[in-house]
Amino acid sequence: MTVQASPIPSHFASLEQALKHYFGYEEFRAGQRSIIDAALQQQDQLVIMPTGGGKSLCFQLPALLKPGLTIVVSPLIALMQDQVESLQDNGIAATFLNSSLGIKETREREVRIQSGEIKLLYVAPERLLGDRFLPWLDHIHSTIGISTFAIDEAHCVSEWGHDFRPEYRQLRTLRDRYPTVPVMALTATATDRVRQDIIDQLSLQQPTVHLASFNRKNLYYEVRPKTKSTYSELLALLRPTSGSAIVYCLSRKRVDELTERLQQDGIVALPYHAGLDDNTRRINQTRFIRDDVRVMVATIAFGMGINKPDVRFVVHYDVPRNLEGYYQESGRAGRDGEPATCVLFFGYGDVKTVEYLIDQKPDPDEQRIARQQLRQVIDYAEGTDCRRRIQLSYFGEWFDGSCNTCDNCVNPQPLDDWTIEAQKFLSCVARCQQRFGMNHIIDVLRGSKNKKVLQNSHHTLSTYGIGKDHSADVWRMLGRSLLHQGLLEETTDGFSVLMLNELSLEVLRKQRTVMLAVPRSTVHLEPTPSANRAEVEELYDRLRLLRKNLADEQSLAPYMVFADSSLKLMAQSQPQNLEQFAKISGVGSHKLRQYGDRFISTIRAYRQERDLPLAPLVDMELPPMEEAIAPTGPAKASQTHLETLKLYQDGYSPFDIAQTRSLRLGTVYDHLSILVEAGYPVDIDALVTPERQQQIQSAIEAVGDLSLKPIREKLGETYDYDEIRLVRAQWRRSLKDAS
Ligand code: ADP
Ligand code: ZN
Repeated sequence: MTVQASPIPSHFASLEQALKHYFGYEEFRAGQRSIIDAALQQQDQLVIMPTGGGKSLCFQLPALLKPGLTIVVSPLIALMQDQVESLQDNGIAATFLNSSLGIKETREREVRIQSGEIKLLYVAPERLLGDRFLPWLDHIHSTIGISTFAIDEAHCVSEWGHDFRPEYRQLRTLRDRYPTVPVMALTATATDRVRQDIIDQLSLQQPTVHLASFNRKNLYYEVRPKTKSTYSELLALLRPTSGSAIVYCLSRKRVDELTERLQQDGIVALPYHAGLDDNTRRINQTRFIRDDVRVMVATIAFGMGINKPDVRFVVHYDVPRNLEGYYQESGRAGRDGEPATCVLFFGYGDVKTVEYLIDQKPDPDEQRIARQQLRQVIDYAEGTDCRRRIQLSYFGEWFDGSCNTCDNCVNPQPLDDWTIEAQKFLSCVARCQQRFGMNHIIDVLRGSKNKKVLQNSHHTLSTYGIGKDHSADVWRMLGRSLLHQGLLEETTDGFSVLMLNELSLEVLRKQRTVMLAVPRSTVHLEPTPSANRAEVEELYDRLRLLRKNLADEQSLAPYMVFADSSLKLMAQSQPQNLEQFAKISGVGSHKLRQYGDRFISTIRAYRQERDLPLAPLVDMELPPMEEAIAPTGPAKASQTHLETLKLYQDGYSPFDIAQTRSLRLGTVYDHLSILVEAGYPVDIDALVTPERQQQIQSAIEAVGDLSLKPIREKLGETYDYDEIRLVRAQWRRSLKDAS
């Protein structure tokens, strides 16, 4: 069966409306809209976005809008579980199949998929390509249809990437088997070579390539020298914040030492590295994700698969090994788009350690490349240019500096005109035929008599010895700054050969001046100013606590309930009824229903304590839960449901319960329905007369139990959704008991 996509399904006026409905967001992030448009047009796509750019939404929203099932290939079980839970918490029908499930559970999920109830299926590549799975997939394809294959972390297909997985190579089988199903490959990898490899390996057909900027605007970058006081600086960074932090160290041993020291100083921290057993790692990770522990001290083993969006600090306590790694690791801060801080403590002692490790590598090519990569990290740390500019230039992206959110921009060094020196340097590169690296050029400029200079007869060049007036360090600083400013190029093959480009020629032709900051002697920086803790902050803290409780009740990570940014908006605008609450970014129809009342009562209580005016509690008519987005699987009863149950059994009416618990009446009925379906003893005869129950049940038998709306249409307006929901719950329960 070929799946036909209509641009926007008729019940949404616009894609924005669908976005708000399912995810609660007001607008698309950069790039998302055009990717989603192209997805609805059935195109193959390669989506390259930095971490936190919002890749998932690019396949999730089309999956909900297109007919058929979207298959998401994802390499890590933890990641899968996390995404599926997040989706389910938005009321979206998603599930996963992987080796963590037993046969029975797998079978049940397959049945739900076959019924067409599920819109998104997450699978690991090894399962997808298994003998048993493909024939089953054929069946799915010919019945409900496969709408798209989304290949997450697509760089795993490439040997040139940092995370090659051979199973990913076989994914092209999908293309051969289902040639009409579009493929969307997604990655955060920045290098060109990997991108090309993805297109080839997955045989994407005329893919639309979306390359987002790698600039993470909400991150503040800072480099501090590693000194005796580094540990107390770290403590000062970690102490006052209420957000989560990751502290990266170079080795397992350092992770353990630092964790212990922090714990002794009263910081609740846990370690994470490959030396810990699987179980400990999993527990530590979960405790971090669920905000039981605020600080994770880790090696780079703690990485992909951690998509916690509200990490506020990433500290590199030791030097990272390469800039791409630094970018990805520090990029785990602020995925939610809120301000976050990345601090790198840079010390030459650590550089020596890394050099030693590089010397231990058996392969000389690997050594050479590792050395060049380390060099780039040193350049970054010592650099006086905008940190963003340096990072982005490394990814081939032009950024003109002055970001105002890095230490070098906030505390700029005075700039001097270095055009003459730059011309000397660049013409020396030209005279040496663009075949040598930085050190050699500096040797020539400074008139060195070393062997390499003499062998190449570079002592006869006109630029020989014209730079004796500056030290080698000063020349190196100039050379690096030329690279960062894009006025000079360097090969990335490990040989670091310097070459001229168009802009170098402009400098040589005196069409361009070169400004340079004198390197600072000591780097001393103020930590980022933290927002002053006004009253808003106090409410914010309370809302965080509520979020934590709600999350714990459902064994979810707090960010799955609401993002930090949504809580901030709540604390600022203080919505006092559902109508106002629905306007908060991050509040979709499902979360409005699920959490609205609890947040509103917390906000109202807060205002009451402060004698702030209270708006009347208007009871908003909520639309019936739409079944396409209804939570998958039987609803589970949590703490809040059990509280309702207790009151109901004590003889309180739903109305009384709503009053006592400051809930909406509809919510109380929701609770009761969930309790009924889950098999708790709730006598509904007092709420719906047996005759009406009979009528409703006949209607359900006639039109099915999936959606409330047709049931009500069949019954007529004298029946309301609350009673229908209750009877449907009872009906579903009886089916379960019978089977
Ligand atoms: P990536 O996979 O690219 O690293 P995610 O898909 O995990 O990023 O998204 C990062 C965060 O941004 C998530 O918390 C997600 O809910 C949020 N997000 C995505 N799209 C939007 C949007 N349009 N508006 C607001 N937040 C968004
Ligand atoms: Zn800057």
